[in-house]
Order: sequence, then structure tokens, then C-alpha cells
Amino acid sequence: MTARRSLPLASPITYRIVPVDPHAHLFEVHLTIAEPAPAGQRLALATWIPGSYMIREFARNIVSIGARSGRRRLRLLKLDKCTWQAAATAGPLEIDYRVYAWDLSVRAAHLDGTHGFFNGTSVFLQVIGQERRACTVDIEPPAGAAFSRWRVATTLPEAGARRHGFGRYRAADYDALLDHPVEMGEFQLAAFDAAGARHEIVVTGRCDVDLQRLCADLEPVCRAQAALFEPRTRRAPFERYLFLTMAVGEGYGGLEHRDSTALLCARSDLPYPGMRETTDGYRTFLGLASHEYFHAWHVKRIKPAAFVPYDLTRENHTRLLWIFEGFTSYYDDLMLVRAGAIDADTYLRQLARTVSGVLRTPGRHLQSVADSSFDAWTKYYRQDENAPNALVSYYAKGSLVACALDLAVRARTRGRRSLDDAMRLLWQRYGRRFYAADGGPGDTQSGLGEDGFVGLLREATGVDLAHEVAEWAEGTVDLPLASLLEPFGVTLSLAPAEGVATLGLRVATRGAELVVTHALAGGAGARAGLSAADVLVACDGLRVSESSLKTLLSRRRPGERIRLHAFRRDELMDFDVRLDEPARTEATLRRRPGRHALRLGWLGR
Ligand code: ZN
Repeated sequence: MTARRSLPLASPITYRIVPVDPHAHLFEVHLTIAEPAPAGQRLALATWIPGSYMIREFARNIVSIGARSGRRRLRLLKLDKCTWQAAATAGPLEIDYRVYAWDLSVRAAHLDGTHGFFNGTSVFLQVIGQERRACTVDIEPPAGAAFSRWRVATTLPEAGARRHGFGRYRAADYDALLDHPVEMGEFQLAAFDAAGARHEIVVTGRCDVDLQRLCADLEPVCRAQAALFEPRTRRAPFERYLFLTMAVGEGYGGLEHRDSTALLCARSDLPYPGMRETTDGYRTFLGLASHEYFHAWHVKRIKPAAFVPYDLTRENHTRLLWIFEGFTSYYDDLMLVRAGAIDADTYLRQLARTVSGVLRTPGRHLQSVADSSFDAWTKYYRQDENAPNALVSYYAKGSLVACALDLAVRARTRGRRSLDDAMRLLWQRYGRRFYAADGGPGDTQSGLGEDGFVGLLREATGVDLAHEVAEWAEGTVDLPLASLLEPFGVTLSLAPAEGVATLGLRVATRGAELVVTHALAGGAGARAGLSAADVLVACDGLRVSESSLKTLLSRRRPGERIRLHAFRRDELMDFDVRLDEPARTEATLRRRPGRHALRLGWLGR
């Protein structure tokens, strides 16, 4: 599909957004449309945000809305859950509305006395039929001396505002307007240059963070990613990139944008001044930042055809999220080891964790990663107690499929070709010219077709993996990782996951209660009739806790029976459970001694 952009008008569409009442979590937006549709302008708010595949219906947070033309009030008819129609008017149409912003996530909007954050999908109404037009955005500070030190962080291009200041910004079209989230407040800020682009790290939330260390560790990762896609120029496809980081007590999440990412992390995961080691938490943070940064190429510019353009009114189904999220999950840690942020053994430990996680999921035998991609909207994003029995993660298994494909190509071409070549061909064909220099549509606005990957991989590497892709991505067999890793001098071994005997239940302590969170399909507990939400109270006549249950299972043998008492609703029930042998799901990856050329090519030196 090709899209041509109409010329920007002199007085197109303007938005003015004001954090009008931070303590009530209210943004006020004034939208002016110079040339409304003659028959009456329609307006809509997104039902989902690209990158997070669930219907969220952001319009439910619009608490008041009205239309006028000059001083004259106009009728504004609501057509459905997210669409309005204003009465016809000859002059400029003005829409005023307030948005409730109290969702502390990377997906929506959040405002209080300490900071403000919003995604365009939560606050900017779409002017239907005028999406190609350029628009301006005036971002205003909250009123009052208490907010005098607030600054703004966004990759929206300035159109009068000073860097990090309140004032006028612009967007080349509506698609661009939605893809540059905005943070405001008294954040910490550090910057570094890499791959021909200015990179800024913005940290919001009380936290003692070593910004220099963050810059020093992220810089080589950014460089390595740009060099992967553009080995000749080694340049990133943007001039400026922002890591918008919200540090909280507990939390984890990230959302990708074309020139920035919104991250949510535990403040304890960030490096503190004087910290020398790379803690597990910090490695997780670096992996998250690496993941979202990789998305700037892969899913924000190289896209599945199903996302070109996004239809924000409904689910956009694609069977390819295992490529867009799975491959990104593969490369996030791989780029850390190649950039030297972690060592090869740490990388292999991480990879083993992913292998174990997938093997612990009975749902992997029911759902393929292609099916999981398609049903992301109703299954992966809406997991319930049956999720491990019914689902497979297109992130986790998708990353293993990427790894398997990479290893297969490298082994068959003696290290001359790899999945990197497929990423570069995807980039050249779909990504490089997806956006024009001004942020509007470029001249190749198309995406990867649903059946396009196998041919592209063959073209990029000379290796035909049609059979493997069918088995690994469309099928439900376990991946032959042990044999694929063998030529790389890496041994995969599997050990029993837990204790000597197992109940096949996942449990959690909630308050004073020991609750079954998941009864794994076919497991000992499920066979005996135990179910998720049952509250375990006694085992063989003794009160049971999480630790006493663990001790008991380490002293019993598979085949032995135990008696469990549990409350379901308020009814006491008892269950006769015959214990199982734990499945061998605990993966370990070890490097064999000696130099392995294939391994050096894969993980770097
Ligand atoms: Zn992702």
C-alpha cells in the first residue's frame, strides 16, 4: 500500500492541552479545526494503543465534552462508545473536553501534583477525514508556583517551544501525533550521543540514580542495534531518542514508539551512585530498554501489513506477533551480550530461564505462537487462571523460535548468514523509508504480509526453513534446541523442576491463606479435583503453609498419596492426591570449553 501526503495547510488542526487540575487528575484539551467537514465533523478517540494489543476504550476517561464555533455552542452527538459528530458549521470548529488521567502505566495517561504523562491515544481526538493534515500542539504548565520548575520531555518536534520547555510543538499527521508520548514534571535528565542521534534518559519518581552509569551502559547497546540494521552508515533512523522512565516501588513495563519509549520500572532496578555490579534487577532494566529500542526499527518502522495503517477503532489481527515481539525478545538480551553489557554465561542463563518458562506451560501443546499472536487481544492480554493450560507466550516461545531459526541458518551456512541478514532485508524492504524526514508517511508504506516471512528468510540467507517455520511457529511441538545448540559448543540439559514429588499446582500466599492460583492440566492436583482459587488448609491432618507444603513434597515420593483439605467458596472439601514425578523443565545451558567459531559469531567475542 502506498500513501501520499497532502500538503500541510496554513491553519490546520491545533490542540492545546493543559493539566488543568493535577490533584483531580484532569487534563483539559481544546481542539480547533479550521475546516470542519461541511456536513458536520466526526471525531473519535482510539480504542487501543499500538504496541499493547487489547481494547481499552480510552474514551471512557473523557468526563466532559462540548463543541462550539466562536461563541456559539454546537450540538455534539455521541454516535458510539468512541465517536462524536458535531453539528455543521462554516467557521472553525472548537471542541473542549476533559480527560481523567489516573492510570499509572505506560499505556494511557497519568497526572497528579508530582508529574504528568500522556499518550496521544488517551488525549487527542481524531479529526475523521483529516488524519493526513499536520497539526500543532500547545503544551501548557499547570497554574501555580508549585509547578514553576516543571519541564517537558517529548520527541514531538518543537514549533516554538524551547527544548524541554512548555509551548508549541507540531506533528506531521495524526499518526505521528499519537506516537510521541509526553512527560512533564521535575524529572532527572541525562544525555549521550550514539549512532548519529541524541539520546536522552528521563527519570521521573523519587530515586537516587547513577545517570552516568545508565548512559555508559546504554550507549554501546544503542550503537550495536543501529549497526545491526545499517552496517554501512551505523546510523539510527531518528535524530533524537528518549527513554522516558518512571521509577516506582514495584512495577515493570515498556511501550515502544518511533523515536522514544515509555518505561516503568522498580526504582531498586536502577543503578545507584557507587553501585559497581550489574544486579539482576538492573540487567532486567537494560533488557527492557534494549527491547523497546529494538522496536524503533522492528514494529514501529518494519510492520506487519495488518498494521498499515493501524485501525484504532477495533482489533487489528495478525499471526505475526511472534516475529515482531518474539524476535524483539530474542534480540533484546542478545544485543546486551554483543554490546558487552552482560557476558556470555549470563546470557545463556537468561536463555535457559526462557526455555524453562516455556516448558512449564502445558498450553504450548494446544496453541502455536502464530495462533497466540492472532488471539493476543482476547487471550494473551486477558489471562485468567487457565492461561498456563491454554496459552503459549508469543514473546517467550517466539524468542526461542527466533533463536532456533538463527542457529539453524548459522549452522547451515557455516556462520556466513544469520537471522541478522533477515532483519536487514526486512529493514531495507519495509522499514527504512516507512516515514519521511518530516515524520509523515515515507514512500514505502507497506508491511510484511502474513505469509511473507519464509520467502524473505530464504532470500536473505539462501536457506529454506519453510518446514521448520511450519513446525515451530504454526505447530505445537517442542523446539529441538539441544541439537541446534550442539554445533555452537553449548549443552542444554533438563532437570526436574521442583522437589522429589509434585502436586501440579501453582500456589501463592495471600494474607493468611494459601491459595491455588493455577491447577496445571493433567497434573496430580487437577486429577484429584483441585481447582484454581481453592484455599488449602491442611495436608494429612496438619495445617499447611507454603513452606510446610514444600518441605512435605521434598520428603514424599512420586506415586504416594496425600490428603488435602481445602475451602472452595465456603465449603470444606477433601482431596485424595496421588503425587507425580516432577517434569524435567529446569533448563541449564553450559558452554563447552574451547573456542567455537560458530558461537563467537553468534554471541560476539
Ligand atoms: Zn515488545
